[in-house]
Amino acid sequence: MELGFARVYFLPPGRLDTWCARAKESGFGAELPYDIAAAYPRAGCVALCIYPYLPYADGERIPAYYINSNRAYRAAKALVTQLNAEGIRCEYAFFPYRALAYACGVGDIGKNGLLHLTPYGSRIVLQALAIEGLAPLAYDETERCCPPGCDACARACPSGAISDKGLDVARCIRAQMEGALRSDGVKRLLSCHVGCERCMLACPFNAALPENEPDAQAREAFELRRLILGDASAARKLVGRNMTSSGKLIAEAIVFAARQGLYEDEIRAALSSPFEAVRDAAAWALDNNFQNQL
Ligand code: SF4
Ligand code: SF4
Repeated sequence: MELGFARVYFLPPGRLDTWCARAKESGFGAELPYDIAAAYPRAGCVALCIYPYLPYADGERIPAYYINSNRAYRAAKALVTQLNAEGIRCEYAFFPYRALAYACGVGDIGKNGLLHLTPYGSRIVLQALAIEGLAPLAYDETERCCPPGCDACARACPSGAISDKGLDVARCIRAQMEGALRSDGVKRLLSCHVGCERCMLACPFNAALPENEPDAQAREAFELRRLILGDASAARKLVGRNMTSSGKLIAEAIVFAARQGLYEDEIRAALSSPFEAVRDAAAWALDNNFQNQL
């Protein structure tokens, strides 16, 4: 498909009660619409669109997932426009995608909490459209992701969020990066901008995927000094503005640079940033990685 979607599943717009109960228990994600029929009352089905992407190398600071998540979001919006122009009534739909996929017999959820789908592993972005006048289809594509004894993701997870019981969302670095301010623990453990991909990098289900690398535009946009000096607009455009408000990328760049002992003067200047998260990161960097002379 020219927009980058490799597969589409036409699923019933049901209720995700089990998922909702777990979300309320953990305190994460409970605000997402779990009653899809109520959220999209005109929908006959939801088209779950699978957008596969390739990982970047282990150690890469630019996030493959978020760059492709933003691309997939824009592709889904374009698909809505295209279908509406062809007379197919549909709208962009947002709900716990992987929970619906799993409930409808598509893929498997691994110990790291992500949906795995052969041959893409967990390197997929899910998007959905609520479509009027189209009935759902039935699927029997349930997979078995985690082989007995596999704990590669648990060993790779820097915050100990994964066990045989699955993912403890509250400990996952991704979940702790929703707000702009980062705990000192996240500052120490962060491996790429916006989120964390360490469990995906370790998973054998992703091992056969060829490695990609950020293009020149991304390299330029995410250049550390440029970000620390406050020029984050190009990088924000690549990963999405809603994920990167309040100086998040600048604060993260300060953390990455400080851990390598780079750009002390620029970091010191960031103490007067209008963003609290940037001032916080700069103070942490000077305290922990340079001879602080505040
Ligand atoms: S995203 Fe990172 S912190 Fe979260 S479970 Fe995976 S490895 Fe652990
Ligand atoms: S690393 Fe192993 S245990 Fe973890 S999600 Fe992948 S297959 Fe499952």
